[in-house]
Amino acid sequence: MAEVLDTAALLFWPVERIAQGICAESQMQELRRLSEPRFLLVESNPPELMNVDDAALQEAREAASRTGDLNGLSPVDIEVLALALHLQAVLHSDDYRLQNIARNEGLEVKPVNTKGIEKVWKWQLRCTGCRAVTDVESKSDELPDCQICGSPQQLKRA
Ligand SMILES: [Zn+2]
Repeated sequence: MAEVLDTAALLFWPVERIAQGICAESQMQELRRLSEPRFLLVESNPPELMNVDDAALQEAREAASRTGDLNGLSPVDIEVLALALHLQAVLHSDDYRLQNIARNEGLEVKPVNTKGIEKVWKWQLRCTGCRAVTDVESKSDELPDCQICGSPQQLKRA
């Protein structure tokens, strides 16, 4: 099973273990910005580096939109996600958004350094007037008014 590592793994894992994983090429640049010594160490025994094509990036953005997590993701995050989705790999990440999206797409997710989230987030609209609650598929910036009483609604994590 292919294992895709996010940048936290590049920072914290033993280099021998990193060498067995797969990363996006842009992560090495990110790692260099975060820690030059660490970058030099990882570069001496690197993971498999892959580039993702535009179609895979688009798929990743769509997957992120489905859980409402797209806004919080960096370009590097999108590449990591695209790689994991494309390879149907195990994703090693501490980023809750990436974990959430990958789980929602049926991928196995493992935390790097912290405990993983228990389950995929669900979102609900709650009316500020009559308190009616509606399940929504994903987080979105456009919040419709309540269909029952017409009051504004708020988005909550269910
Ligand atoms: Zn209402």
